[in-house]
Amino acid sequence: MLGLYLRRGPNDGDNARPSRRRRRCGTGVLTSPDLAWDIETDVVVVGSGGAGLMAAGTAATVEGGVDVVRLEKDSSDPFTSVITSSFIPAAWTRLQRAAGVEDSPEIMAGDILRKNGHKSDQDVTLELCRRSAEMIHWFIDGLEVDLEFAPEVTWFGHTNKRKHSHPTRIGVPIIDRMRTYFTSLEHTTYLDNTPGTGLLVDEDCTVIGVTADQNGAELRIRAKKVALTTGSFNANRAMLRVYIPEMADAPNIGAKSNMGEGIRWGMDIGDAVDQMTGYQGRDCIFEDGTRLTPGVINEGGIAVNKTGKRFVNEEKDYSQLAAVYRAQPDGFAVFIWDERIQRMTENMHVLKESMHKGGIQICDTLAEIASHFGLPENVFKTQSRPTTSVCGPEMTLRAERS
Ligand SMILES: Cc1cc2nc3c(=O)[nH]c(=O)nc-3n(C[C@H](O)[C@H](O)[C@H](O)COP(=O)(O)OP(=O)(O)OC[C@H]3O[C@@H](n4cnc5c(N)ncnc54)[C@H](O)[C@@H]3O)c2cc1C
Repeated sequence: MLGLYLRRGPNDGDNARPSRRRRRCGTGVLTSPDLAWDIETDVVVVGSGGAGLMAAGTAATVEGGVDVVRLEKDSSDPFTSVITSSFIPAAWTRLQRAAGVEDSPEIMAGDILRKNGHKSDQDVTLELCRRSAEMIHWFIDGLEVDLEFAPEVTWFGHTNKRKHSHPTRIGVPIIDRMRTYFTSLEHTTYLDNTPGTGLLVDEDCTVIGVTADQNGAELRIRAKKVALTTGSFNANRAMLRVYIPEMADAPNIGAKSNMGEGIRWGMDIGDAVDQMTGYQGRDCIFEDGTRLTPGVINEGGIAVNKTGKRFVNEEKDYSQLAAVYRAQPDGFAVFIWDERIQRMTENMHVLKESMHKGGIQICDTLAEIASHFGLPENVFKTQSRPTTSVCGPEMTLRAERS
């Protein structure tokens, strides 16, 4: 429970509060120490996706736990952690060992550092990799989440297969379990439909709390620690134009509520930002985010553009490939895979969704694919990839439009 919970009464207008004296801190706002508080707590967590849930849950349970208030803008809007494919990398878990894969935290850390050009802190990276197996085991044993080793994916840049996932390959069941568990904990208060609106700082520019909007009224929350887990800025076109201009006009397949507020509040009080150009791109069929599951390309599927030609090594990181797909004539690519791959992936949520929405066309011959998508048949027939059997004439072929 909260240490102190002072909700504003119906008759308390703004006049009942001491006035706020404002000073500048960076470009942020300073508050006077005599500010009236609606809530006082140990930790306030703003944003309730995967990161916010873990931050709040950890604070509420570690070493006896502290009081935590968790804010969420709108839980009915699927946030990014919900729409993920739920692939969680981890090294040397019991599931990975049972699958006969030899791996180690050191190899995993090496893969990450190679991929990010050694931009992440080496010690922190290694420590996270060392604890990755413990996390998977905690999800299974502690949260009773149904996780399995994902055999269909050797991830881009990974030396070994190490993805774990829910059998449906979607984040919903994992996040649902986390929500139920963390909401039931003592010491926690969850306020949905209560977006954080800014930071409150004292004369020394130390963050002492946040403001939030509850049904149109300002809520002032004092906290010893503030965690900003408001996700990315994928829904903020203005920020995209500044930091990731090549993706500024791409469909937003992440949470609609992620306007980068936490990042901007930090910047407003003079904090530095880093890694602002990184993003998650995807091969998408519809603008609502309906997409392929990575296993399709990973197992040997190919992509051709309108000219019927392959235009890239599909095995590259699909996130980086998003810009390449968008650069094709009319932003159009057709993904083709065979029956074997289809059998491996057809029970996965995102593929079922794509099938349901009509984004996947089942074809019996290459000629049928060419005709359906208006591809020049002669050129198209010559395209193949060493790892794919897509050109076997007896195969049932499936094509997808991007
Ligand atoms: C299509 C897709 C597939 C992906 N698949 C994977 C995968 O398989 N494996 C993997 O590891 N990663 C995957 N990712 C990346 C991963 O989903 C994200 O890195 C992760 O979910 C981010 O979690 P988060 O808690 O920071 O953000 P989010 O899950 O987006 O949560 C942020 C929350 O903050 C809330 N919020 C925003 N502003 C405010 C505010 N002012 N006040 C209160 N609340 C606010 C939002 O409503 C939201 O609930 C995928 C991403 C995408 C887009």
